[in-house]
Amino acid sequence: MILPGGTIGILGGGQLGRMMALAARRMGYRIVVLDPSPKCPTAQVADGVVVGALDDVEAAKQLAKQVDVITLDTEHVHADVLDQLEAITPVRPGANVLRTIQDRRTQKEFLDGLGLPQARWAPATTPAELDAALAKLGRPAIVKVRRAGYDGKGQVRIDPDSDAHAELAKLKHEPAVAEEVVGFTREISVILARGLGGEIRIYPIAENAHRRHILHTTRAPAPMREAARARAEQIGVTVAEALGHVGVIAVEMFELPDGRLLVNEIAPRTHNSGHFTYGACSTTQFEQHVRAVCGLPLGDPRPLTGAVMVNLLGDLWRDGPPRWEVVLARPEARLHLYGKDAPAPGRKMGHIVLLDDDTRRALATAEQLIAALTPP
Ligand code: ADP
Ligand code: MG
Repeated sequence: MILPGGTIGILGGGQLGRMMALAARRMGYRIVVLDPSPKCPTAQVADGVVVGALDDVEAAKQLAKQVDVITLDTEHVHADVLDQLEAITPVRPGANVLRTIQDRRTQKEFLDGLGLPQARWAPATTPAELDAALAKLGRPAIVKVRRAGYDGKGQVRIDPDSDAHAELAKLKHEPAVAEEVVGFTREISVILARGLGGEIRIYPIAENAHRRHILHTTRAPAPMREAARARAEQIGVTVAEALGHVGVIAVEMFELPDGRLLVNEIAPRTHNSGHFTYGACSTTQFEQHVRAVCGLPLGDPRPLTGAVMVNLLGDLWRDGPPRWEVVLARPEARLHLYGKDAPAPGRKMGHIVLLDDDTRRALATAEQLIAALTPP
């Protein structure tokens, strides 16, 4: 058990690391982060920074020597690097969890091995493999690079009239897999924490809407029938236990018109669709993750209120900083900004959480706020 006063190392200095660091520091922990940029969102709120690439073994070892436990803000730190760190200090979640998840193909094989439902898929790195995949899956299909994709990056869609090989070439020969396009009615995510001793705490299920393949809004608790909720939770627990995961984990799912659930992907970390827990639940996903990786008892995940989260993308900064007073004037709104200095289109810069038991109304409010913040 690593008690407050101990030091947590975080690999990757994005917004997830930043919010984790803020939660940890509130509880009296020290934070050291590894990131290529000394000005990254997490470094701004950390006690120490090791500047280096996430696959720089020497830099990562330098971090490992300064901390009591290592955790991650991204699943894209190479598992072979984590193997070397585990010889120095505990890494939670461990290298083997990351090894299974960080490659879409091994992740899909893992899910198949558990008998969990997912979209039909096939390897699609070469044109010949893609032809075979399209023969099996039909069109439309989506081809995704196996490693390091996020926010829809590293994905191409093959429509009935697409030149499939030309689309594949956009992925620059990266190892890839193809999936059938799922006609889902909505997307949900199950976010839960698994502690060092195997105990599980499950958050209210989140309902997610994406735009341009980037998460736009989350509402929680998702309106859901009891049986479907139980099934979604059971899938999440099965995944966390089979991985031997420690920490917060998110399982993204598609809900089909007939009510069936398909697993889309697993993120072995805190998740954008769990940001509503800050304000809506007694324990935020970030505090929960800190508790889990430090071997502490897990906190209460129950919701205190309904909530909607809406992401703030860099597009809103086109004409300078948005008019935050519009957001702050609303009593139910909480503004979160990540301290990023380069607002590019599609880049996640912050989010708003609206605390409102009427989540349908909160979704409408979220759209009004985004419209008011959008440059003309
Ligand atoms: P990432 O979140 O790593 O960018 P995802 O695989 O979750 O990648 O894809 C992002 C979004 O694209 C999904 O949340 C979903 O909206 C859409 N999408 C991805 N795969 C499919 C699919 N097979 N069928 C339909 N929509 C998909
Ligand atoms: Mg996703």
